[in-house]
Amino acid sequence: MTLTFMGAARTVTGSKHLLTVGDHRVLIDSGLFQGLKELRERNWQALPIRADAIDTVVLTHAHLDHCGYLPRLVSQGFKGRIFCTAATTDLAKIVMADAAKLQEEDAERANRKRYTRHSPALPLFTTAEAEMAMRLLQPVGYNRPMPVVPGITAEFINAGHLLGSAYARVVIEATGRVLLFSGDLGRFSRPVLPDPTPIDRADVLLVESTYGDRAHEPDDNGARLAEIINRTTRRGGKVIIPAFALGRVEELLYWIRDLERRKQIPELPVYVDSPMATAVLAEYRARLDELDPVLSAQAPNGWHAAHRQMCAFCTSRLKVIESIKDSQAVQESSEPSIVISSSGMATGGRVLHHLERALPDARNTILFCGYQAEGTRGRKLKDGAKFSRMHGKDIPVAAEIQSIDAMSAHADANEIMRWLGGFRQPPTLTCLVHGEPGPMDALKARIERELKWTVKTPQHLETVEIA
Ligand SMILES: [Zn+2]
Repeated sequence: MTLTFMGAARTVTGSKHLLTVGDHRVLIDSGLFQGLKELRERNWQALPIRADAIDTVVLTHAHLDHCGYLPRLVSQGFKGRIFCTAATTDLAKIVMADAAKLQEEDAERANRKRYTRHSPALPLFTTAEAEMAMRLLQPVGYNRPMPVVPGITAEFINAGHLLGSAYARVVIEATGRVLLFSGDLGRFSRPVLPDPTPIDRADVLLVESTYGDRAHEPDDNGARLAEIINRTTRRGGKVIIPAFALGRVEELLYWIRDLERRKQIPELPVYVDSPMATAVLAEYRARLDELDPVLSAQAPNGWHAAHRQMCAFCTSRLKVIESIKDSQAVQESSEPSIVISSSGMATGGRVLHHLERALPDARNTILFCGYQAEGTRGRKLKDGAKFSRMHGKDIPVAAEIQSIDAMSAHADANEIMRWLGGFRQPPTLTCLVHGEPGPMDALKARIERELKWTVKTPQHLETVEIA
């Protein structure tokens, strides 16, 4: 039995872990590389194994860096099933369709404006390929072990990181060995999503390490968010929030609504400008029962389920933007407002148009509330860039740049340790994945020191033998 780390090895994106047991090959996650160019180029390179030699995919959740490579896998001949939870099925369809469309639009624009070294520029995958991948998705309920290839079962356990997110617990029937793939680990005691489910045993554990060297700022009940919104509003500016369409928009809306209700901020127009975020929001509303129980409990007494769904994420002046024309109207308007738009690392999507307008004006604030990977525009802005290049132009940065890490969907180092503390005996092997080298090495040292476990941080394309 071996594990091959085909992505998210000493980096945060491109999650792909290949489990080989005898003649069977199961790929856990099939994510896109994002961020630095040398990483993105890996999306174009051949896999170390033929795609048609992979029997099946087990997908932990619908974020692009976990599912975005599926259309590429299919275009290279993968024909197996893709097991995931029901909500992941619905969200992954939205994500893949959106990614294909963005790829096609970018390629088309690059060819039209000729700002490409490749001629012609091609999309990484097409809408047709994304649709082929969607047809292979096989929804499975939480906590139901399911045979995925002969002799191997997989079970999804709620990870509290995103609607539908799960750890994959994989059991090798012949030996009884248990492998646990954490996917991305959610947070404890946050609104919207439930806590990550405690786990007490696994023989082999793969765990993410995105924030392996950091503690998120303590929960301040929205105080910093209120402060940023109020300060920007007093200046007559807008708050532009590049947000991951998947998951972060809901938590932001929850907090803004909560701050409005507590009269901590004025009732401002709140625009959600991302077709994908809008579709995802509908999924969240339709699956309130899978979210944090606190959420539905907050509805006024006597409200029907339908009303609870309506109010779950509604700020008083919420406007979901449908058309490009409405988006342009918001970009041009100088009325103080909050604009939530994707993509979350400002690498593409409609938020770029808002940033292009908002960045040169010191009244505005750009607020990052998710992880900004190395090499992304978001990371550069967060690190203090004076200019930001977009649509072939250098845009000067005068706006205030802020970030709130507490809104991250990823467990911080203490939360990862808390979760690992639930294990009643150490795994034979623990591999850290999904982290940049600094945080990953810090977490490795901490686990070795505090828990005395054996920890590896495999390199890209490394294969590890498992007894
Ligand atoms: Zn994720």
